[in-house]
Amino acid sequence: MTTTTHSRMLILGSGPAGLSAAIYAARAGLKPVVVQGMQPGGQLTITTDVENYPGFREVIQGPWLMQEMQAQAEHVGAGMVWDQIVDVDLSQRPFRLTGDGGNVYTADTLVISTGAQAKWLGVEGEEALSGKGVSACATCDGFFYRGKKVVVIGGGNTAVEEALYLTNHSQDVTLIHRRDSLRAEKILQERLFAHPNIKILWNKAVKRFVGGEGAAGLVGVDLIDTMTGEETHEPTDGAFVAIGHKPATELFEGKLELDEGYIVVEKGTSKTAIPGVFAAGDVTDKIYRQAVTAAGMGCMAALDAERFLAEADFEATKAAAAAE
Ligand SMILES: Cc1cc2nc3c(=O)[nH]c(=O)nc-3n(C[C@H](O)[C@H](O)[C@H](O)COP(=O)(O)OP(=O)(O)OC[C@H]3O[C@@H](n4cnc5c(N)ncnc54)[C@H](O)[C@@H]3O)c2cc1C
Repeated sequence: MTTTTHSRMLILGSGPAGLSAAIYAARAGLKPVVVQGMQPGGQLTITTDVENYPGFREVIQGPWLMQEMQAQAEHVGAGMVWDQIVDVDLSQRPFRLTGDGGNVYTADTLVISTGAQAKWLGVEGEEALSGKGVSACATCDGFFYRGKKVVVIGGGNTAVEEALYLTNHSQDVTLIHRRDSLRAEKILQERLFAHPNIKILWNKAVKRFVGGEGAAGLVGVDLIDTMTGEETHEPTDGAFVAIGHKPATELFEGKLELDEGYIVVEKGTSKTAIPGVFAAGDVTDKIYRQAVTAAGMGCMAALDAERFLAEADFEATKAAAAAE
């Protein structure tokens, strides 16, 4: 049997953005409901060491941080539902969302915080060595490669930015690109080419990530020349896959304005073009994509939604009084 649940604020996603929105909304007395999705806790649950989330002097573990965030949200009164939303109707309020088992969620306001997943190459060794030398986030993990050799794979803005960022930690950065020219903006390319600590391997695709003996982690990448087919090996301590991200916004295509898949919000707010629908975190952020920025945006979305509800309640009371 399917159920219908109504909430003042429905939050889609249980990463740092969704759970921060839940904490703020619950503390405002809105009894928010969080639909957790297929990845309860979001992207940080697939990493280990987190060293840049404020408030913790020592390195903490991503899954632990997200458990604590969820416990905090529940402690102040947020409800959690384990479901994956497969359909949304934003054409009228209350908004109507349907889970994959047919359960229906109606809501006066909706906070979308479904995140963005890094794109991976899908080659041998990548998954097994993820977090053990293979990463998709230089800002998150670059620090762990201080003084070591790293490679960055990709040819767009993200790859060039990651390579430049990594020079803060490493004197030996190699950009590996499958073509003979980069897609990145010219100004970024100029900075890349001018950097003494970055070398580029053109026309090379990664065939396999190679791990060392036992628990040694990544020791190198096997490459294949895209012009000649020649195979070579590049030793490295860290490999950063930087071929872009895919925001989880398929549900909103044709319903909300998207920019390269990211939900467009009014500048400096979390408001989408549909009153009562807000977006927060990586799903609306193609630049920063960090846990702390996602959490900050979750806070903004809860506050924007709370103000929206307060105004709507006030208008409804005024209209009712005028009708008497
Ligand atoms: C390996 C790795 C390591 C990282 N390390 C760091 C780090 O050290 N420091 C740092 O600041 N950042 C790090 N990041 C980035 C950080 O994890 C993200 O910026 C952050 O998690 C974004 O939060 P979010 O809430 O916007 O989205 P996410 O964390 O991506 O959460 C999205 C949520 O939406 C849910 N969802 C998606 N679709 C649906 C649907 N249809 N219905 C219901 N729910 C849905 C998912 O289940 C998930 O709960 C790392 C990322 C990765 C992948």
